[in-house]
Amino acid sequence: MILPIHVYGSPVLQEPTIPVKENTPELQELIDNMLETMHGASGIGLAAPQVGRSERLFVVDVSPLVKEEPGLPEDPLVFINPQITEEGDMDEEYEEGCLSIPDLREYIVRPESVSVTFLDRDFNEKHLEVDGMLARVIQHEYDHLEGILFIDHISSFKRRLMRRRLKDMINGKVQADYPIYTWENQGA
Ligand SMILES: [Zn+2]
Repeated sequence: MILPIHVYGSPVLQEPTIPVKENTPELQELIDNMLETMHGASGIGLAAPQVGRSERLFVVDVSPLVKEEPGLPEDPLVFINPQITEEGDMDEEYEEGCLSIPDLREYIVRPESVSVTFLDRDFNEKHLEVDGMLARVIQHEYDHLEGILFIDHISSFKRRLMRRRLKDMINGKVQADYPIYTWENQGA
C-alpha cells in the first residue's frame, strides 16, 4: 500500500525515532509499504518518519543509479535500528533532494564513506562499509531517524533564501507527483 509522504512542517519529521524491539507482521507490512511508497515516488531512500512513523527504520534502493555507479546493490536494502559506527576522513559535496521537501535541492557536504551496523528485515545483524552514492543515501536517511533534514546542514544564508518555499510547505501550498501529507491539509 502506498502511504502519503509527510512534507516539511509535519512535526514527525523533526522528532527522533524509537528503536524497533521485535519482528512482527505489522513491522513487515510497514517495510513492504515503505518500499512500495519509495518506488511509487521514484525515490532511492525513505525513512519511517516520512510516512508518519516513529520506528528506527529506513529503506534504500539505489538500483536506478547502477548505470552511473556500477557495483551498487541492485536489490532494495532495509535498515532496522542502524548505527553509523565510523565516518571516513574525506568529505564530499553532492546535491541532495528529499521526498519530504519537494522541488528543493541543495549541495550538502558529508563524509565520503561510512560504516553502518543494522538489522535486515529478517533481523540478521549486518555491517556495511560503503562509499559513493550508497554512503550518501544512508547518511541522508539516517539523519531522518534523528529528526534531521538535509536543509539543516546548509548555511543560514542559503536557508533564508528558501524560507518562503519552506513556509509554503508548512502551509500546505505544495505539490508533488506522489501522495503527500502536509501538516496543514492533514493528508487531504
Ligand atoms: Zn529525505
